[in-house]
Amino acid sequence: MFTERIYNFSAGPSMLPEAVLAKAQSKMLNFGGSGTSVMEMSHRSKAFVDIFDETKTLLKALMGVPDSHEILFLQGGASLQFAMVPLNLIGKTGKADYAVTGNFSNLAMKEAKHYGEIHEAASSADQNHTYIPAQDQLNLSKDAAYFHYCDNNTIYGTEWNYVPDTGAVPLVSDMSSNILSKPMDVSKYGLIYAGAQKNMAPAGLTVVILDKSLLGLELSHTPTMLRYQTHVDADSMYNTPPTYNIYMLGLVLNWIEARGGLTAMERYNEEKAAILYDYLDESALFKACALPEFRSKMNVTFVTGDPDLDAKFAKEAGAAGLSNLKGHRVVGGMRASIYNAMPMEGVSALVEFMKEFEQNNR
Ligand SMILES: *Cc1c(COP(=O)(O)O)cnc(C)c1O
Repeated sequence: MFTERIYNFSAGPSMLPEAVLAKAQSKMLNFGGSGTSVMEMSHRSKAFVDIFDETKTLLKALMGVPDSHEILFLQGGASLQFAMVPLNLIGKTGKADYAVTGNFSNLAMKEAKHYGEIHEAASSADQNHTYIPAQDQLNLSKDAAYFHYCDNNTIYGTEWNYVPDTGAVPLVSDMSSNILSKPMDVSKYGLIYAGAQKNMAPAGLTVVILDKSLLGLELSHTPTMLRYQTHVDADSMYNTPPTYNIYMLGLVLNWIEARGGLTAMERYNEEKAAILYDYLDESALFKACALPEFRSKMNVTFVTGDPDLDAKFAKEAGAAGLSNLKGHRVVGGMRASIYNAMPMEGVSALVEFMKEFEQNNR
């Protein structure tokens, strides 16, 4: 039992900024004198359309989304994008390139095989996904309709430290676990997608940012709800969008803006991650899993080398208010997810706890 909030290192759904939760709480019963909660508003009402427009405008401004690109607020998670991307984009040549650098990029590639000829352009499976292939290791096809990669590997704790150069082939990226963690040049991408529950909002909202010049290529049997064109035409209101999640995203974006935007977020995230990686590099007990150049700023994976000790660590940390440090079931070990909303104090508390654990378990 905790009487105060804990530091939640969950990979997702994950922590939201406390100030955002408090603000949502303060408006829960009566939003802005409307006499209702945002949850109870019609998505067509002026009050909600204002929230929707503000959220979209703020996301566009913070990420620097160019006018060539459309922002969509969808559902179905990042996992539905594994199918929507090929259904909508592979039609141009019937082929696509995929880089496999972890669990989700592999799932995305497997799903795409239902819709066309898929070529594995790179894989880090040979070293258990502890690194990211270099540009000259990408085996690119000239006739690919797009190149798909996952910018941050949530489970293995690696992150691309460069934007792949694919020439005229559109870049498609799953940014579920690092969107809004740093500035990124959206104009380089044909399509970016992200489930909201890591760095944006509660689970249930999926953000897609796509270059409108890629519209109109969907396979003929693509269901209406799975066509990007449907959602572009209706400004994400073809059916009822996840209204409360969009409102929460707006609060999170306001919080990021007040802290200085994505450049400030990046600096803060780099400082936070450095505290943890510096300790891991000097510890005699714990060892970071990812190779240094490819270490994720969002998901820090580490092990003791002894699965029983790993389990003991996660259990004792949880009892001390440092929760969800157990690694993903496919890789074991530990994982500390330190997204935007994880404060510096949480990471410091974790490192202090690890030092103490190391003392007690030599
Ligand atoms: C969490 C995650 C997913 C899966 O997201 P859902 O919204 O649960 O479908 C896919 N890709 C990455 C990189 C993730 O972190």
